[in-house]
Amino acid sequence: MSSSYRAPHTVLEELGIREPEDIKIEAIAEYCGATILYEALEGTEARILGYGDRAIITVNVAAPLGRRRFSGAHELGHWMCDRGKIAFACTDRVFTREWSDDNPERRANQYAAELLLPQRMFSAHAKNREITFAAARDLAEVFKTSLTATAIRLVEFGSFPAVLVCSDRDRRRWFKRGPDVPDVLWPHDRVSPRTVAYDVLHGKALPSGPVDVCADGWFGHHEAHRYAIREDSVRITDDYVLTLLWWKDERQLLDLEDDDNDDEQ
Ligand SMILES: [Zn+2]
Repeated sequence: MSSSYRAPHTVLEELGIREPEDIKIEAIAEYCGATILYEALEGTEARILGYGDRAIITVNVAAPLGRRRFSGAHELGHWMCDRGKIAFACTDRVFTREWSDDNPERRANQYAAELLLPQRMFSAHAKNREITFAAARDLAEVFKTSLTATAIRLVEFGSFPAVLVCSDRDRRRWFKRGPDVPDVLWPHDRVSPRTVAYDVLHGKALPSGPVDVCADGWFGHHEAHRYAIREDSVRITDDYVLTLLWWKDERQLLDLEDDDNDDEQ
C-alpha cells in the first residue's frame, strides 16, 4: 500500500475488521508498513524508528498484553501521523498522561484508541453498562487494551452521563467529559479531601468499588452540594489515580438543563 496517512477507521475498513477479536495489531501495523517486535526494553515502553516507507516498532515484552497492544498501536499512531524519518521513544507516563494537550503523544494515543476501541464496536459492547471500573475492566478484556484508554471510551461512548478525571497528589492532570455533561460542570483543579480519590492518593486502605459522594467534592458549581454522584477511583501508577464520576442519579444534570432553559426565556 502507499505510504500516506490513513485514519484508523479507514485501515479497519480496508482490512474488513468488524469484531474486537479481529483487531490484530501486528497484522494491521504490517499492512501500514511497520513491523512490531517484542523485546526487553529499559526506561521506555515502546519505540519506533521509521525511514521512508518502513518502520520498526519495538514494544516492551514484559508489559501485560493490553498494554503491549496499546503501545504498538500508539507507535503506529506516530507512524501514521508523523511519517517520513521519525524516531520516538515513549515511556509509561505518556500513556497515562498525554490525553489532553495537543501534541504528537496525544495524537498517537488518540490514534491507538480509535484503532483498538473503534467507536461503533465499542458503543455496542458498552451499551447500558454501568460507568464503573468493573465495567471498564470487562471491556478492556474484550478489546484487549489498557484500562485508561477503555475508561476514556466508556465516558465518551457509554450509555450514561459521566466524567473521567486523572489526578496526582498536587492536582488534576486531565479530564474527559461525556457528551451529556454540560460545560458548567468543571472539576476542581485540586483533589478535594471529600473525595475517594484523595484517600487513594494518600494511601488509605479502602474498600474497592464505587461510592456515592457529594458532587461539590468534585465540582465548583454553586448548587453542587445538593447532589450526589457515584465515584469510582483506582490507582493506575505510583503517581496517578483515575476517577470515574457517574451521574447515576441524573437530577443535577436535569436541573442544570432547566436553569439553561430559564436563562433563555
Ligand atoms: Zn509516543
